[in-house]
Amino acid sequence: MKEFNLNNLVRKNIIGLQPYISFRDHNEFSAPVLLDANECPFGEFNRYPDSTQKKLKNKLADIKKVKPEQIAVGNGSDELIDLIIKVFCEPKKDAILMMDPSFAMYGFYATVNENTVLKLDLNDHFEIIKDEFLEKINENEPKVFFLCSPNNPTGNSIEDIEFFVRNFNGIVVIDEAYIEFSGRKSGIELLSEYPNLIVLQTFSKAWGTAGARVGIAYASEEIIRLINTVKAPYNVNTLSQELILKLLNERNTLKENVENILQEREWLMDQFENMECIDRVFPTDANFFLIRMKNADQVYEKMLEEEILTSKRAPAIPGCIRINVGSRQENEKLINTLKKIQP
Ligand SMILES: *Cc1c(COP(=O)(O)O)cnc(C)c1O
Repeated sequence: MKEFNLNNLVRKNIIGLQPYISFRDHNEFSAPVLLDANECPFGEFNRYPDSTQKKLKNKLADIKKVKPEQIAVGNGSDELIDLIIKVFCEPKKDAILMMDPSFAMYGFYATVNENTVLKLDLNDHFEIIKDEFLEKINENEPKVFFLCSPNNPTGNSIEDIEFFVRNFNGIVVIDEAYIEFSGRKSGIELLSEYPNLIVLQTFSKAWGTAGARVGIAYASEEIIRLINTVKAPYNVNTLSQELILKLLNERNTLKENVENILQEREWLMDQFENMECIDRVFPTDANFFLIRMKNADQVYEKMLEEEILTSKRAPAIPGCIRINVGSRQENEKLINTLKKIQP
């Protein structure tokens, strides 16, 4: 990387912006009589949530070996993607860079913010082509690169991630929504080395709490301060903060979920062998498979008839359907249905 100055990347109107301060959350002082926020004095959830998510951040800091000031909590990582674009990308002027195929929400939020979406084609192994990456970033100077690893919907982990962080003069966001299934090291370990790095993780996949809407960003204190400045003050509700804290204190949930899903993934992999309607199962590091069918439309429709919803990726990825690992009962139903399909 060339010399790094964060302020050169941040939108000018955000640099000096004062965050909304909830007096209550930013003071150690806590009063038994709270008459400052027009809340109702009755009820179990009558108080606004902690806008700084302090307990949750302290716990995560402990687990991940970072400072609480290096953590931002979002209403799902979706919200964090939106906030990152808002912090760095000037509407109508700046661009983001993403892989193609990859997670659609990067392009969606960029488009809402009127930013150009540049896409990097992947090679036959769904890896980023380094020369194309270098060419594209020199030509267009995108502000933010969303690097999804393991990638959704292809399932593979991206090799040599550090190369992309090192050679990009903007912000690199490593989206690790599926990292728990991969056995790979997290980009969090690179944070001390790269001031342009943001790592996203989520409680929606391996932790099994998609309904709670909690995602986490790890980055430098400066970047986290900016994300926290633009977020809605009460973006993560009290119920969700308490639920996630409880899960983190138990710590078995993650291990049990991951072990179970990896076992089921193995089982499914075996079952897919010699299946007539399947052309190719791509290697996966995630909790889903990208599968090329001999006739994707037919397979997709047949599954719907049997009340199994899958994610058709064709025609964008020719012939492909994305199917995630379910419970044993769900997986058996899937396999029994697939077996019946004659291409
Ligand atoms: C599912 C998923 C997310 C998670 O989004 P949440 O808003 O945290 O539920 C993030 N990134 C990718 C690539 C995903 O597939």
